[in-house]
Amino acid sequence: MTLHETAAPAAASAYQKSVAEYWNQEKNPVNLRLGAVDGFYHHHYGIGEVDWSVLEGPEETREERIVAELHRLECAQADLLVDHLGPLGPGDRVLDSGCGRGGSSFLVHERTGCQVDGISISERQVAFANEQAEQRGVTGKVQFHLKNMLDTGFETGGFQAIWNNESTMYVDLSVLFPEYARLLKRGGRYVTITGCYNNAYGLPSRAVSEINAHYICDIHSRSSYFKEMSANRLVPVSVVDLTRDTIPYWELRARSPLATGIEDAFLTAYKDGSFQYLLIAADLV
Ligand code: SAH
Repeated sequence: MTLHETAAPAAASAYQKSVAEYWNQEKNPVNLRLGAVDGFYHHHYGIGEVDWSVLEGPEETREERIVAELHRLECAQADLLVDHLGPLGPGDRVLDSGCGRGGSSFLVHERTGCQVDGISISERQVAFANEQAEQRGVTGKVQFHLKNMLDTGFETGGFQAIWNNESTMYVDLSVLFPEYARLLKRGGRYVTITGCYNNAYGLPSRAVSEINAHYICDIHSRSSYFKEMSANRLVPVSVVDLTRDTIPYWELRARSPLATGIEDAFLTAYKDGSFQYLLIAADLV
């Protein structure tokens, strides 16, 4: 595979180039050190109860314990997403859209044996993830491509499932979901885990706007997911509000040496009700 396998460049607009640049340069310890725990590199957040005892015990190994605990919570998030992809087996092909360094792709392959294609707009991430596939001996089963999720060039109706793990805030949903309606088999499953702003609060709060500026993204409203899904034959089957489940992760991260500076904005936005962490699963009808 070459990195440039589509005719159109993966980053087709000036905005997309800036997003690609961000992810090409990204080397945060909160991603790299956590991934090094067991080789599953995630760029998403965690869910579940924190084991606060990691902050106690010997000072010299405290950081190591925090890293392992944050990683455990991020893996729990990925596991929950995979639980919602529906029954999959070695005969199925699935798409990890906005795949980062490939953590969720490897997890899905390990759990189901299906063929996984991961796509990212970042050349570096694609190269990293393909190297991982080689090290794991799964090339040909798990493959990563430099592609734009809005215009993948993949064949029509070829995927049993598609997911976005924290990557829909980089694209216009009214352009994204028509592409998924094309790529998915009829009856196929779509899953997203995403932060969204809460329409019941109003428009994006200051803290939500801070998150947008930090990541160069555009967090969508809760309503826009359902509006754009229903306009594109995607019928929700499960909606899970993970907001309360993700707060402990952010509290631990804020108190850890791996904090990146955006922790308070997330905690404020979740706690004042302006921001929600949702899992949405839908079927293509
Ligand atoms: N899903 C991964 C990574 C989330 S970070 C994980 O859970 O670990 C967001 C990802 O979206 C990055 O990999 C970034 O390159 C990708 N991305 C952003 N805009 C994109 C686009 N238009 N097409 C493809 N990937 C995109």
